[in-house]
Amino acid sequence: MFQTPQEFLNYVKENNIQIIDLKFIDTPGIWQHLSLYHNQIDESSFTEGVPFDGSSIRGWKAINESDMSMVLDPTTAWIDPFMQEPTLSVICSIIEPRTGEPYSRCPRTIAQKAVDYLISTGIGDTAFLGPEAEFFIFDDVRFDQTQNTGFYYVDSVEGRWNSGKEEPGGNLGYKPRYKEGYFPVAPTDTSQDMRTEMLLTMAKCGVPIEKHHHEVATGGQCELGFRFDTLVKAADYLMTYKYVIKNVAKKYGKTVTFMPKPLFNDNGSGMHTHQSIWKDGQPLFAGDKYAGLSQMALHYIGGILKHAPALLALTNPTTNSYKRLVPGFEAPVNLAYSQGNRSASIRIPLSGTNPKAKRLEFRCPDATSNPYLAFAAMLCAGIDGIKNQIDPGESLDKDIYDLSPEELAKIPSTPGSLEGALEALENDHAFLTETGVFTEDFIQTWIEYKLDNEVNPMRLRPHPYEFALYYDC
Ligand code: GLN
Ligand code: MG
Ligand code: MG
Ligand code: MG
Repeated sequence: MFQTPQEFLNYVKENNIQIIDLKFIDTPGIWQHLSLYHNQIDESSFTEGVPFDGSSIRGWKAINESDMSMVLDPTTAWIDPFMQEPTLSVICSIIEPRTGEPYSRCPRTIAQKAVDYLISTGIGDTAFLGPEAEFFIFDDVRFDQTQNTGFYYVDSVEGRWNSGKEEPGGNLGYKPRYKEGYFPVAPTDTSQDMRTEMLLTMAKCGVPIEKHHHEVATGGQCELGFRFDTLVKAADYLMTYKYVIKNVAKKYGKTVTFMPKPLFNDNGSGMHTHQSIWKDGQPLFAGDKYAGLSQMALHYIGGILKHAPALLALTNPTTNSYKRLVPGFEAPVNLAYSQGNRSASIRIPLSGTNPKAKRLEFRCPDATSNPYLAFAAMLCAGIDGIKNQIDPGESLDKDIYDLSPEELAKIPSTPGSLEGALEALENDHAFLTETGVFTEDFIQTWIEYKLDNEVNPMRLRPHPYEFALYYDC
């Protein structure tokens, strides 16, 4: 919205803005915020930053070294459509107040470092990223507080229960058939107006909107689309996307989840990520090799596929992520690439004759990832492929779901669990740390955080399905 701090400050004065809402991202990927009265912001807020206590932020500082500063990025400002008083929202990066250095665990700083690294290699000067985050709209989610199993049930827009039972929930005559949510018109599609409001609200927040539609799953699964952009901007847009979608849904009395597999036996939600590298305004992924790709693009694919097991610890970083990466639901399982084949984890979309549209789509990621970390890690893996000329092997142009067990055995698969991905990251992270983009401290903190807060607590809890299997033993 603004190119300079001065433009930002002038706007605040001229438009009687009362509150400046500072938003920043924690390590797992949730926006946190702090609201300041307008007189608390001046030019120094854009250089020295605004001090705050960083000790309670997940994955950050210990209590004895909690002072942090948020530095405002004036180009990310928009009027927050969900606040009553005139409030200017702005995205911040974190610095160490004592040294003024970027904080090494700030995800947005890590994302910027990935771009700086790309430039330092001389390979390119711009990475374009285009994420497609899918999500479900539900009527209600109830956590059963009486059961420490954490058992829950959900009631979707179309009145479907997670248990699979058809409970009374309005007229189900126009409920989409199984796997046919993509994409009949109303009245089968019941969330058109909500999605339109989500999309138009997003535009008011500066996101370059393109489209919206229902998705394949029967239970109110949807996707909105915005235009690809440079790495940090694309991550900023993705966070705005999630914020707007969740808050518009709330206005309608609904709730939204980006968790990859909320419904057993139905399609999950991915965050396919389109990517390409450019230099001096020229696209570098178009060429005369397979599917109209350049040799550089094939090496980039080689890097992604080689490091995929470790990469998934950042692009698919929750225990639920691995319930999506199973055969039969348009989610990738096998680490292969192909033109058009949606069962391969890397697809090269048809892009016409325009070399500027030439890109690859990595289909593994999901929106439980922190986009700043996921984008930075994918770029590092791709650059590693280019620098080391990693051969991606043969393309896979058959439907992977139809291959014989012998053929299938030759194709490596995605890790089966978060634990498996974290183990792969432990064994393979030089491609992230030797670049200077991620520190060793960050990688170890990430692995420890995920094991202590997610993998182990999940393992310790009796699962609802264990009751179905074993209660009568
Ligand atoms: N929902 C599918 C996934 O999990 C993708 C469906 C699609 O967009 N074609 O990746
Ligand atoms: Mg899409
Ligand atoms: Mg989709
Ligand atoms: Mg896609």
